[in-house]
Amino acid sequence: MGQTRLDELRGRLDEINGVMLELLSERARIAQEIGQEKERQGVPKFDPVREKAMLEDLVSRNTGPFSHETVRHLFKQIFQASLSLQQTDHKKQLLVSRKKQKEDTIVELGGVSIGGGRPVMVAGPCSVESYEQVRQVAAALKEAGITVMRGGAFKPRTSPYDFQGLGIEGLKILKEAASEFGLKTISEIVDPAHVGLASEYIDVIQIGARNMQNFELLKAAGEVRTPILLKRGLAATIDEFLHAAEYIVAGGNTQVMLIERGIRTYERATRNTLDISAVPILKQESHLPVLVDVTHSTGRKDILAPCAKAAIAAGADGIMVEVHPDPATALSDAAQQLNIEEFHRFYAEVTRTGWGV
Ligand code: PEP
Ligand code: MN
Repeated sequence: MGQTRLDELRGRLDEINGVMLELLSERARIAQEIGQEKERQGVPKFDPVREKAMLEDLVSRNTGPFSHETVRHLFKQIFQASLSLQQTDHKKQLLVSRKKQKEDTIVELGGVSIGGGRPVMVAGPCSVESYEQVRQVAAALKEAGITVMRGGAFKPRTSPYDFQGLGIEGLKILKEAASEFGLKTISEIVDPAHVGLASEYIDVIQIGARNMQNFELLKAAGEVRTPILLKRGLAATIDEFLHAAEYIVAGGNTQVMLIERGIRTYERATRNTLDISAVPILKQESHLPVLVDVTHSTGRKDILAPCAKAAIAAGADGIMVEVHPDPATALSDAAQQLNIEEFHRFYAEVTRTGWGV
């Protein structure tokens, strides 16, 4: 083949490439419009029946030289690219996404703002065990100037033989001790049926790591107006975490806070692996406040302060830590709770430089 013929053929290929690109772009724009329409109608973006029909139609019109298999493969790629365009559009529209809302969500707990720029410390026992136990912690928090106390009443334990929590009685104890010292409260709820009732006792409902994808619980949390503290699942990706939060916000409850609490990895030096990079990623991707639970992520007292400082340096809006008047006798997480003296030291160390602000 002479050079002129080759140049001529290549010229035609370039032209065809150009036309194909125009057609592909036109196709993509129509697919995007279809995606938006499907969004409005609330129907799924991926329609395998329609896709199969389009492929069969193309194959029936194929006269070669590409084989039917090749035609199927090529068009499947085009369909997939269109679908991911539609899904990107969808992702842009996640209610928890920064793309949807530029300003930070600030959760107001009557005098305490979470997500407003000044980090908060949330502290308290793993489990509510007795009035006296919670009262001692509440007094210590008050002394330190801390205004939000945690305490578990419904405990999701690995073993059914371990302490399961005091239930509603525990919430009552928490409320009584907290109101004596003017503190706000956070406690885990595990049953969708308790979500409505919880607001009578607590200021923030915690959804624990084990329930991050308990979709009925998430939906129930979306129906109330009590702020929700959603913990990252033990093996949840950041994307799954954000989608779990989306369930709550999509239900109508915009007062959602995210909390990184460590994820399962092969590392055994800590109880879980604190994913510090999740903090700036979540802050970038979402407008919701982001906290870090240093107790459950590390499971060891000796590194709580540096981990809390790292979390704040990474942009966290708050820290959660467990405190118990006598950790050795605690009914849950005995090994990792700080006693009151250790807690005061921890708090002083973490806030020594004014939370880095
Ligand atoms: C808790 O905070 O009491 C708790 C059980 O933590 P997690 O759900 O993160 O394990
Ligand atoms: Mn605990």
